[in-house]
Amino acid sequence: MLANSLVELDRNHLIHPVASWRGHEQAGMRLLTHGQGAWVRDGEGRELIDGFAGLWCVNAGYGQPSVVEAATRQMTELCYATGYFGLGSEPAVRLAARLAEAAPGDLDHVYFTLGGSDAVDSTIRFVRYYWHARGLPQKQHFISVEQGYHGSSTAGAGLTALSAFHEGFGVPYDWQHRIPTHDLYRNPVGDDPQAVIEASRSALMAKVEDLGGAEHVAAFYVEPIQGSGGILVPPAGWMAAMRELCAELDILFIADEVITAFGRTGPLFACADEGIVPDFITTAKGLTSGYVPMGAVFMSDHVYQVIADGAGQAAVGHGQTYSAHPVSAAVGLAVLDLYQGGLLENGRIMGERLQAGLASLSDHPLVGDVRGRGMLAAIELVTDKKTKARIPAAAQPATRIFDRAWDQGLVLRAFGWGVLGYAPPLCCTTDDIDQIVARTKKVLDLTLDDPDIRAAL
Ligand code: PMP
Repeated sequence: MLANSLVELDRNHLIHPVASWRGHEQAGMRLLTHGQGAWVRDGEGRELIDGFAGLWCVNAGYGQPSVVEAATRQMTELCYATGYFGLGSEPAVRLAARLAEAAPGDLDHVYFTLGGSDAVDSTIRFVRYYWHARGLPQKQHFISVEQGYHGSSTAGAGLTALSAFHEGFGVPYDWQHRIPTHDLYRNPVGDDPQAVIEASRSALMAKVEDLGGAEHVAAFYVEPIQGSGGILVPPAGWMAAMRELCAELDILFIADEVITAFGRTGPLFACADEGIVPDFITTAKGLTSGYVPMGAVFMSDHVYQVIADGAGQAAVGHGQTYSAHPVSAAVGLAVLDLYQGGLLENGRIMGERLQAGLASLSDHPLVGDVRGRGMLAAIELVTDKKTKARIPAAAQPATRIFDRAWDQGLVLRAFGWGVLGYAPPLCCTTDDIDQIVARTKKVLDLTLDDPDIRAAL
């Protein structure tokens, strides 16, 4: 009864992110009421394993007592402190210092935001300021990768390369450009890693040439694994090759690790796997494991010094009321304790089990590709393994697969073009992982029975 009235209130008043507003009015919301470990409960009392950690963010799992205690303590002691006027709070300083220590190379300076979109947006501003300070303000152009996602702020949405974020919104701007994705499954140059790396290098060089040379290009944005674009894993060495090329061209290299940081692929930062040090890293999500909002921009010492010298005694005019929020920072510290106290290690072990478990479904007639790293994985469905024909739109993969999984007690992400996405909490047990795989098998079998898919086989 209560749930029904909430569904009605939601329909009438709450605007949902990245939703079909009309579709949502018809379908109504699903209520989530509780979470513990890797499990959530819905409004009907159904227990589900959360194979997507909320929105790839609850890396530490739900209901961790130490995180709750840290937030409660901080709210009681000092609920808010601004960073303006040279003020601050202890947890923000301690978190920045611990993160800087853990971050690759000289990424020693941390600017806290409220989430991922404003972390990306902050880098756009910092990048522009950096080139201005270096006396090269004509370096105006920003390049990202097709299928990339870099948030939905006004400027960030133009770096995002997914059409739903562009059409009708007046982006990308004329200073925002893209090169093709490295997608190994559907790449016109094939799936040879070296050929894919070479194609991306050539594409970036050609794009830079088109823009009048590197003296006009400010920055290149990548995700270590493209998330919202379909969980596309570049070949090993791709990140390093692109980083190297940007260094040669004097173009800033930004790794958007909003999804991949904090144990999602294994280490605290996915860049560590590639042995690279970007000029900036953007993070959010796992930073506070979804308990409270927070993002962080990691800035290299070199960039920091140029901006600081450029501004001299003048203020660098960038800031938000809730930057370095003490409660978020206290949560960040508690979550970091969990990661470093064994959770990353558990995530690594569970990640191997997840990848092997999902790979064991490769023989299923609908499975075209299984990919991922650590606790980040995808299954791409096709109706023909040879031609890689996509699931027909008539079969409404995004809603029907999501609903089927839900009915099986599994939360996953179902991408509209027939990709199943996984990003479970790092605290999963072996049984949790086995459940994810077993329930996925059931979902695949049910999907095979879908008349709209049968018709396409
Ligand atoms: N960058 C990447 C790589 C992301 O995946 C996301 C969110 N999914 C963002 C930026 C934006 O983060 P937020 O939703 O916290 O604004």
